[in-house]
Amino acid sequence: MSMPTPPPSKLPGSAAKEYDFYKVVQDYLDRAARVAHVEPYVQTILSQPKNEVIVNFPVRMDNGDIRLFKGYRVQHNNLLGPFKGGMRYHPQVALDDVKALAAMMTWKSALLRLPFGGGKGGIKFDPHSVSRQELQRITRRFTHALGENIGPEYDIPAPDVGTNSQTMAWMMDTYSNMVGSASKQMVKGVVTGKPVASGGTLGRTKATGQGIVFCILEWAADKGFNLEGSTMIVQGFGNVGSNTAVILSRLGVSAVAVGDHTGYMYNPEGFNAHKLQDYVEANGGIAGYPGGKPITREEFFATRADIFLPCALENQVGAAEAASLNVKLVAEGANGPTHPSGEKILLEKGIDLLPDVLANSGGVTVSYYEWVQNKRSETWSEEDVDARLEVAMKRAYHDVADFARAKRCDMRIAAYALALQRIEAVYKEREIFP
Ligand code: NAD
Repeated sequence: MSMPTPPPSKLPGSAAKEYDFYKVVQDYLDRAARVAHVEPYVQTILSQPKNEVIVNFPVRMDNGDIRLFKGYRVQHNNLLGPFKGGMRYHPQVALDDVKALAAMMTWKSALLRLPFGGGKGGIKFDPHSVSRQELQRITRRFTHALGENIGPEYDIPAPDVGTNSQTMAWMMDTYSNMVGSASKQMVKGVVTGKPVASGGTLGRTKATGQGIVFCILEWAADKGFNLEGSTMIVQGFGNVGSNTAVILSRLGVSAVAVGDHTGYMYNPEGFNAHKLQDYVEANGGIAGYPGGKPITREEFFATRADIFLPCALENQVGAAEAASLNVKLVAEGANGPTHPSGEKILLEKGIDLLPDVLANSGGVTVSYYEWVQNKRSETWSEEDVDARLEVAMKRAYHDVADFARAKRCDMRIAAYALALQRIEAVYKEREIFP
């Protein structure tokens, strides 16, 4: 949770006005199912989430008023393991978008061979419009309202847009107080992305960014591309965008343009990603950062660079943005940042695309490592976490790239298809109850 979120009417721009995220994800599922020759009944089961939980819960605000909040938890599939996925606090949280994001978690877990299914949730409100105490009460009351709909062997939330490790600490503490003293120590794994002292894992905060970088390294090796001395443009400078930029900058990639909900900036010499990360932490956004010149959103998308990292929200790259982009690679840190109309143009222009379900899966992978450590009462070193993540991401990258080459499909459809095949194999073995 890095910055205040503007009301939807003031959002600085998104790709297409009419955007049905759930339908977009459904269409990918349909295409992937055809490529993977998945049994129709498996596709039918996966076309809808298993459970859609909606809770309305009251919270006392600082001024004494009682405000009603709407929270969601969509549990898409738990064939391979507990439902798993983030909690989003944002004014635009809506059921269909959460359904899309929950389904994507199912594909990510399967693609990374994790013993997890997929879920997603959130609350429709602006977390930056309330005080810290209110935020805590909202989070605790939400956790209480979800009750037995979450649990360390059932459904395991994590941070997403508008939430962070502090949110997870409140969720875990509330849940552990709900289960009673005797079970308290056993339920740390009810959420991942916790602060390290409260049972989190080293390496989780940067995990999504680190995973993206491992993917980019494999892409660069595949293409014979030298990252040292290359350039990137980064949209979204929160957890995912800033950590990806910091790690890439250590490899010699310089960020020449950045943007977030407070505006866009250009610096041909390259931003100091570390300093900008600290600035955003302190100021809630990039606006006012002294090391760059303000530019428009249109100028940002037209900035020539080698790599574009969309790390903000869904539906940011439509036809117009794709037509402007002058890059070699788009690596999707955000979930669903590319509209299908934009993706078509990117592929026609010969721009490579590392799709979200592959590129940003480092977050859920390290969440799995956290969950395993909680189960075993172990603490792994950061080097150990990073080394395991590297193996997992590189394997996933090559699985997807090999499949795409063999089946002559794009990387996104390949990632979905591989996930579908793995889930289908289990449905075929276990068959359908009763
Ligand atoms: P965050 O809240 O830390 O950061 C979000 C960023 O997006 C901020 O920089 C914000 O200013 C920017 N943003 C919001 N609205 C914008 C707009 N209209 N235009 C431009 N920028 C805008 O969230 P995060 O955790 O970094 O998540 C970012 C994306 O990555 C989301 O799509 C999320 O689902 C995805 N993701 C996150 C994780 C994780 O581990 N946190 C894992 C996988 C995927």
